[in-house]
Amino acid sequence: MTIEASDAGGNGASAVVSAAASDGVPDSRDAVNARKSRWSAVLDWARSPWLALRTEYLQMNGSTPWFVPALSGSAIVVALLGTVVVVRAYRRRQDVQKGRVGINASAGTDPAAAQRTRRAAYRTRAPDAERLSEFGQDSEVERSISQHARTERSEKRLSVGHTCPKHIAFRVDMSVADIKAETQRIIAEERALAEHISSLYELVRGGAPLLKPPLDFDHTFQLWADMEAKHAARRSSVTFPSFVSPHSDIRAASVEAQRELAKLDVELSSRADVYRVLRPIADEYEIQLRDALRRQRSSLHAPVASRESRREQLRHKRESILEQAAHDQDYDDFGRQTPLGAQAAAALGLTLEHVRYMRFTVRDLERHGAHLDDQLRERLVDLRTRIADLCIEYQRNLNEENTRLWFSAEELAGMSPTFLEGLRSRPNPAKPEELEFEVTLKYPHYFPIMKHCSVEETRRILEKLFHSRCVPENVFLLEETVRLRDEAAKLLGYPSHAAFVLEMRMANSPENVEAFLHRLSKRLDKAAHAELSELRRLKRKDNLERYGVLLGLEPDNEIRMWDLRYYMTKYEEQQLQIDHTKIAEYFPLERVLSNMLDIYQELLGLRFVHLTQGQRWHEDVRLFEVRDAQNAALLGYFYLDLHPREGKYGHAAVWPLQPSCVRPSKVQETTAPRGKVATPSTGTSHVHHASETATNALQLNAMHSADGERQVPVAAMVANLSKSSGGRPSLLRHEEVVTLFHEFGHVMHHLCSKPRFARFSGTRVERDFVEAPSQMLENWCWDRQALERLSGHYERLAPRTPRDDGQSESAGAGAGTGGALVPEPLPSTLIERLQQTRRCLIALQTRRQIVLALFDQALHHAPTREKLEREYGADRRNSRSRSRSRASGHRNSQQQQQQQQQLSSSSEMLVDGIDTAELLALLQRRIGLVPMTPGTHMGASFGHLMSGYDAQYYGYLWSEVYACDMYAQAFADQPLDPKAGYRYRQLVLAPGGSRGANEILHDFLGREPHEDAFFRLRGL
Ligand SMILES: [Zn+2]
Repeated sequence: MTIEASDAGGNGASAVVSAAASDGVPDSRDAVNARKSRWSAVLDWARSPWLALRTEYLQMNGSTPWFVPALSGSAIVVALLGTVVVVRAYRRRQDVQKGRVGINASAGTDPAAAQRTRRAAYRTRAPDAERLSEFGQDSEVERSISQHARTERSEKRLSVGHTCPKHIAFRVDMSVADIKAETQRIIAEERALAEHISSLYELVRGGAPLLKPPLDFDHTFQLWADMEAKHAARRSSVTFPSFVSPHSDIRAASVEAQRELAKLDVELSSRADVYRVLRPIADEYEIQLRDALRRQRSSLHAPVASRESRREQLRHKRESILEQAAHDQDYDDFGRQTPLGAQAAAALGLTLEHVRYMRFTVRDLERHGAHLDDQLRERLVDLRTRIADLCIEYQRNLNEENTRLWFSAEELAGMSPTFLEGLRSRPNPAKPEELEFEVTLKYPHYFPIMKHCSVEETRRILEKLFHSRCVPENVFLLEETVRLRDEAAKLLGYPSHAAFVLEMRMANSPENVEAFLHRLSKRLDKAAHAELSELRRLKRKDNLERYGVLLGLEPDNEIRMWDLRYYMTKYEEQQLQIDHTKIAEYFPLERVLSNMLDIYQELLGLRFVHLTQGQRWHEDVRLFEVRDAQNAALLGYFYLDLHPREGKYGHAAVWPLQPSCVRPSKVQETTAPRGKVATPSTGTSHVHHASETATNALQLNAMHSADGERQVPVAAMVANLSKSSGGRPSLLRHEEVVTLFHEFGHVMHHLCSKPRFARFSGTRVERDFVEAPSQMLENWCWDRQALERLSGHYERLAPRTPRDDGQSESAGAGAGTGGALVPEPLPSTLIERLQQTRRCLIALQTRRQIVLALFDQALHHAPTREKLEREYGADRRNSRSRSRSRASGHRNSQQQQQQQQQLSSSSEMLVDGIDTAELLALLQRRIGLVPMTPGTHMGASFGHLMSGYDAQYYGYLWSEVYACDMYAQAFADQPLDPKAGYRYRQLVLAPGGSRGANEILHDFLGREPHEDAFFRLRGL
């Protein structure tokens, strides 16, 4: 899963490169005056001996000899130069020590045009009064805010580590006051920019020429893009702590910041006054682009040069371009990024990415109702603000969920001693000589117990609580959100929220998504039923062994939700004779991590450096620098925050903290000279790979991302893997290894992307494509060669094979003994069995995904809902009158259970009175084949629906189609081939969202994608 800031709002992600801290403001007037007086003192001092000499000479001879003024003058010059050097060095040192010097440190002294200085005002991290007044910000407020921030700067230790690499503008040491102040600054600056653009309307209305300053791209769209680029890291600095900060007050302040910024996004992305300036400009560009395109095409038909030989030479080339052009007429040349489109855009001084950015910005405004009349727009803003609030509330409830249960060792039968050792324990009150263990509903506790605990009652209690997490509060929040989303979509003229969302996705329409899910479900039907009866057989056998047959009555052999994982695991263990606990012994966290990083480095041509001094938000967090393996160019940074903590985000996800883009201050230089066709820059591309990757697409890509002046991306990967403790390494289950690989794939997507605009950085691609690059990289966790490299028994050693040479040291207990022994890699019999587990019970697992995806679609698209009801026979209960209690806050589990019982069904919800619990139960029964436990409602903890995956959960399955296709085509034969890996990095990861996913796929595959590999993996 990746987490994005608002995808729809134009201001979602953005960033700052300047490492200037807020107190590192460039010289104010006072400082200049102080410096002047220092200079005159220095001058006097340098002059004094020569003045004395002159006086003496005058006394002796009565006149000044010619050499005295000359000597005196040159001495002054020398002294001045010396002083300048010393003072500069001293100041520089001080700046470095204070962390003031950043990439933009020279911006203040850059003798660029006045226009650039004006623009720099937007970029300033800590605006001074003079700059702000330009856009009418209240500098008094600003001053009082920073005053407040200084006085309240926390006494607590907010971060660990010493320095923050200067390219990281994202800050980890924000106190509550810092967060508040910075949020207010961001809001003020973004509003000021909107005001500025709005003020251009007088010119537009007065008929000022469009596409000429200040009504051209540079003075409108570019300013917006610059702000996005500069603000993203600042926004992350105030919003990210809500997920990871160890301090609850900081988390709370950060949630508040999220709320305020979400509100700001809603406001800015629906500003009609901004829209009425930008729309005519964009329209004029579209007209001119089409004109240029027509000219490009007709010039292809123009009479050719007189010389016969030249004509011959060119004939073939022209023909092929014409052929391409004829083909392109069916497409949109700018949207599809054809060479002709690129040339037409270049004629206007733009790249195709500029055109895309312009279109996306206008489209985002329209999708937020900026074009609607005031009344409708205000209603829309109300709805969006409310929705954003509800989503944040929902997520916070989930993050803060803190149920704790105590189980005796007997109740946890089946769990390994290692697992029990990792739990908190206390003497059992019932039997003081025994221990009892604390279990939470966090993943590292819940999933192992659901898989291995042989006590059905324990599983039943846990499953029920797990799928009832936050029910009292969150069911209401979800249903209310769904209702508001529907209203908002209809206000904009869409039939449903899903239709509104999917318009911008690969899938395009709810009908396509539904058809895809149904097609998949049908094809899996037979296999799923067969798999389920295998599980029933196991349970029956289990029950017979345990209880025998009493009076000819058999116990309940039906598979329940709490049985599902247990018997799936059991089936796998028996069928494939696989023991995941044994396999986990080959995957000690530290070794897996370092080997995984090695594989990624080799495959993608990267180099990672662990920065032990870098500033972090908790001592568990690690910071890495990423460089290109070929030319050592800095590509970015990533944080790994892998272990659970109280109050921390409970799943695994990646946050892009700072986007990859061309640095705002340099955009001007790299786009100049305007009006010329840019030559594809070979830039930093690797010479020895260049021939393989020099496709048309790559050239186009290079054209608009001249390297060198980039803002480097920063990402954070957050997971909840148990920590190594007491000399015993944390052993990862294979599925955790897969998750690690998957999430790290998102990190790589973010770090390898090289778009021009922050708007298209890294994972900001179509949501139903975003998982594909990561899912493809999961394949390495199933490949023999990669598994051998990844694994290493935490105790046992084996003779070193030649391949092991040069591998990094392992943290496994047996490592470091040196000589010819290395940790024993996963034996090939186990690898084979492990590989077989991939297909084991895959129909049931995929069906579960389909249930969730259809639930999501049904919530957000009424026709899907109706169709499902028709198809699966709506056996809705008529218990529609039960009231719903929604007291929130208390997490007392007894009270929670009472509330759930009251909750199980009701009708006041949703547009046409469908109960979400009932809907989910229906799908789970008919498609998932195992009934939902009464009283539970997974919708209350289905975070995806409230964090940007609404109407898009299908994306996991959808993008897997592409992941399978890409892997089968490019890697299946040689998974660790660095050439293929490099090509993947360049063609799939590098564009980020600057090109459409369909195009990216087409370039990489060399054909249209198809579903074959996806079904093959499922044995179909
Ligand atoms: Zn993901």
